[in-house]
Amino acid sequence: MVLKINGLTLALGEREGLLTVRVASLLGLPDGAIADIRVIRRSIDARRTRPPRFVYLLAVRLTDGVDWRSAPERERAGISVTEEVDKPDESRGASSGSAVFERRPVVAGCGPAGLFAALTLAEKGVSVLLLERGRAVPERLADVRAFWEQGILNPESHVHFGEGGAGTFSDGKLTSRVKNPFTSRVKRVLVDMGAPADILVDARPHIGTDRLREVVVNLRKRLIGLGGEVRFGACVTDFRIHKGGLVGIVVNNSEEIRTDHLVLAIGQSAADTYWKLAERGVALAPKPFAIGLRVEHPQELINRIQYGRWAGHPDLPPADYFLTAKVKALNRSCYSFCMCPGGQVIGCSAEAGGVITNGMSRLRRESPWANSAVVVNVRTEDLGGEGPLAGLAFRRHWEEIAFLAGGSDYCAPAERLTDFLSGKNHSPIGRCSFLPGVKGAELRDVLPPFVVEGLKRGFAEFERKMPGFITEEAILIGVETRTSSPVRITRGEDGQSINLTGLYPCGEGAGYAGGIISSALDGIRAAERLILSLGGQAGRRG
Ligand SMILES: Cc1cc2nc3c(=O)[nH]c(=O)nc-3n(C[C@H](O)[C@H](O)[C@H](O)COP(=O)(O)OP(=O)(O)OC[C@H]3O[C@@H](n4cnc5c(N)ncnc54)[C@H](O)[C@@H]3O)c2cc1C
Repeated sequence: MVLKINGLTLALGEREGLLTVRVASLLGLPDGAIADIRVIRRSIDARRTRPPRFVYLLAVRLTDGVDWRSAPERERAGISVTEEVDKPDESRGASSGSAVFERRPVVAGCGPAGLFAALTLAEKGVSVLLLERGRAVPERLADVRAFWEQGILNPESHVHFGEGGAGTFSDGKLTSRVKNPFTSRVKRVLVDMGAPADILVDARPHIGTDRLREVVVNLRKRLIGLGGEVRFGACVTDFRIHKGGLVGIVVNNSEEIRTDHLVLAIGQSAADTYWKLAERGVALAPKPFAIGLRVEHPQELINRIQYGRWAGHPDLPPADYFLTAKVKALNRSCYSFCMCPGGQVIGCSAEAGGVITNGMSRLRRESPWANSAVVVNVRTEDLGGEGPLAGLAFRRHWEEIAFLAGGSDYCAPAERLTDFLSGKNHSPIGRCSFLPGVKGAELRDVLPPFVVEGLKRGFAEFERKMPGFITEEAILIGVETRTSSPVRITRGEDGQSINLTGLYPCGEGAGYAGGIISSALDGIRAAERLILSLGGQAGRRG
């Protein structure tokens, strides 16, 4: 029999080996009654007013004939114990079959959505072609370094474009609000490809950019091992359409590839591809998103605020936070987003003449800095432009303003949080982690007034929730514009574009996902729908 035990805790300094003793004592079990204990989820309960502790969800296998129900209920206060019902493992996916594609399906984009779509197809025996406009990890790394160290931007190979997509230079947080049985499958694949096994149990799992770079290369090798083909430096530049159906694509403005099935997983930064889709009449719609700034604090200060006097305990990871504020006066919300403990703020320019910020960290999260985006929601009616692509022009405008304010060399405009709030002093900026570099500026000039106002009120609320957040030590860096896609490539229930058969838009760029896990899940879904379109079965064509 297997029990699920939720809410058992360990104090700082206690080791997981103690869990067996704790479970036995909780349930009044004799020696030898527990055959096996597996951690399903581990989280930290840190409330400042009491010592932080680790909280566990466990699967406990008992030896045959053991009676666990006789333990007194009072000993289980705050802990739930239930018998696990055997369920089929949905995360394993549908069975493979043997139907045949007339022409080879193509996946555009080697981010999480494209990679997992291609893998799903390949695992079902489909010979798939994966096209990526950027470069493979080693070459891409050199391009990104040239940008961070010398301000040289390669417009086809940067933090957004290249193997692994936008997540390769990230914190690799794997949190997702989506409840989906395939989430554990995605995580298992990532572990098989080199991610730390902790991601299977941690409530806030993360991989880190250093490990992610290895993982995405291994994913590519696995895809090739399954019969897939991967081409870098291959940008889908046009779409061939006949009677409302896709019949082919153009690569790099020169090569024609005949295909009836394209999984379009291009992320949210391929403005040129969006424009081409619009030109070809593919249904697009504007979508709300959010913009703002990055805030960076010393990590030690965040630890002190979150952990109180227990800050610095070797069992505690660098603390994080998630803060929200309703800005009633503006009828908007302000919130922290993509917080990177022990990380670094990075320049993520995607087009010449624009500055964009974001955050990244290594697996060990060992830097002395904590950063997070702080953003205010933007509605489609704020965009002030016509048509579905108005959001692209809107964010591009503020990225250009930030570029000018930063000195026109890809340094970012930056200001102390206290100066931004007071609007008076402009003290020199202290140290911050941003690459390629920062230049002092008044950040109220680099964002629309409603965002500036929303941020100011939001920070005041953050200070109430997390006293000490507003400090001279906090630096703001701008601008954060790529929280999610401002465009949706409208698709129907069958996963296809509503007016172009054979086009399967998915991932963040399609406007139906955001973040590594949800984009990967959306890629899997796209591949499965594509297979369903053939009657539910897929296979390799000779
Ligand atoms: C710096 C940074 C840090 C982040 N941190 C996190 C984090 O910690 N956790 C998290 O969950 N999310 C994070 N994100 C967001 C996350 O990376 C994205 O949500 C996710 O990568 C989206 O996946 P995707 O596959 O839909 O698109 P992308 O990852 O953007 O991949 C799209 C790919 O398509 C390629 N492409 C574009 N156009 C074409 C074309 N026409 N032809 C061929 N290829 C094309 C691009 O080069 C790119 O490689 C971060 C993003 C950034 C930029």
